[in-house]
Parts: sequence; structure tokens; C-alpha cells
Amino acid sequence: MAISEPTADTRWRCAQCGNLTRFDVTRTTRSEEYVHADLAGAARVEERRILTDVIERVACRWCGSTDQIELVPRPGAAEPVTSPHRTTEPGS
Ligand SMILES: [Zn+2]
Repeated sequence: MAISEPTADTRWRCAQCGNLTRFDVTRTTRSEEYVHADLAGAARVEERRILTDVIERVACRWCGSTDQIELVPRPGAAEPVTSPHRTTEPGS
């Protein structure tokens, strides 16, 4: 199942175990690099431009699930934060 990158308002969540923070991401990246080599031949990438970046798979680091990762709103993103203390995590 394809999943997209989290945005400013969303984040990944494993529906299986509730993990919000640790994922193994498999992605295909096509990039263009500016390689600057010194006269001794040691090369270094000084600039990297991403041409294509496709996420193929996101696996939960905790339970290993790959088809249970979903996008959920970040805390405070769905509703304006009016109270200084936060209650429970949404969607639990
Ligand atoms: Zn999990």
C-alpha cells in the first residue's frame, strides 16, 4: 500500500501498535549531484538535487507492520490549541 510523506499537519502512525516515532522507510530517489573532487581524487558531493522521490514502503520499527501505517493529524493541528494542557492522544 502506497503511503505519502507526512506534511506539516500530519504524521505517521502505526494502527497496529500505536507507534508514532520510529519507521523504516524504503524509498526510490533519483537525484542529481554536484561532485567536487580535489586534485588527489577524493570526491565529495557538495550539492544534491532531488529529481524524483517515491516512498515505496513504510514499516513500523516496533511491530514490523507494513500495511497498517496511516497518516493522522499532528497534535494541535486539527483544532486550535486553547488549553495549555493536552489530554489524550487522538485516535487511540
Ligand atoms: Zn507497529
